[in-house]
Amino acid sequence: MIDYHIHTPLCRHSTGSMDDCVRYAVSTGMTEICFLDHLTIRPGKTAKSMDPTEVSLYFNAVQVLKDRYKNRIRIKGGLEVDFNPEVNGLIEALTNTFSFDVIAASIHFLGELDIVSRSEAWIHAHMDPDLLYSRYLEQLREMLTYDYFDLICHIDLPKKFGKTFSGSFRSEMDDILSVIKKKGIAVEVNTSGYDHPIGEAYPSPDILAVCRKLGISITIGSDAHHPESIGKHFAKALAQIQKIGYKHLTAFSNRNPFKIRIADMVSSTLNSGCPKEI
Ligand SMILES: [Zn+2]
Ligand SMILES: [Zn+2]
Repeated sequence: MIDYHIHTPLCRHSTGSMDDCVRYAVSTGMTEICFLDHLTIRPGKTAKSMDPTEVSLYFNAVQVLKDRYKNRIRIKGGLEVDFNPEVNGLIEALTNTFSFDVIAASIHFLGELDIVSRSEAWIHAHMDPDLLYSRYLEQLREMLTYDYFDLICHIDLPKKFGKTFSGSFRSEMDDILSVIKKKGIAVEVNTSGYDHPIGEAYPSPDILAVCRKLGISITIGSDAHHPESIGKHFAKALAQIQKIGYKHLTAFSNRNPFKIRIADMVSSTLNSGCPKEI
């Protein structure tokens, strides 16, 4: 099995060392993992992210682990970059300087509103969901005019605190998905949503079904912020993914996507005696 979304203590809200993450992943039979730590640049604001000056330290730490564990697990390195057009030049410079395996794009902020923060959950509770979704989709469309990323994380994140997509936004999301298909960008199935109030993965099964219909590639990520979350809820998510008709997951090397058969991954993980989920 693979897990393409693992954080590190460099983002300042994740615990357990990178080495611990690799050892835990090996112990559960993972065949490939990708560190995908936050790069959030919001001038004048503190960010729960590595600092841009730490990207080289992070990149080198991944290279050391790739080599150290090369006979036991494939290790990849990438960034989860927060979309912020104001700093696009800096993002492009950083992503071009280091040969990461994948660059992912996320939207965690709508202006001042932090969509993911639990402390702002009350805002979500009182905010008109149509306003939330229209602002989010507008930002997603703008993000898709840029080309620095290969993968989109948790594409329907505003549902985190329980307010699902209202019908009027479905056709807009479908339209955005066709842009994603045209650009050859992959979509992440992010299992952290099972532990959030919404209680399901990102994206929801109906959005994932449209991805499948359009032929959009998908990968899977736990969004682990500590080692024991690696691979969490994958059995549930994989059942859903396969039910929708996907036969492959996408992985990346040097920014090039490649496909891995789900059936092969599941059986190899089972054969290696994975303890819990798969
Ligand atoms: Zn995080
Ligand atoms: Zn994220």
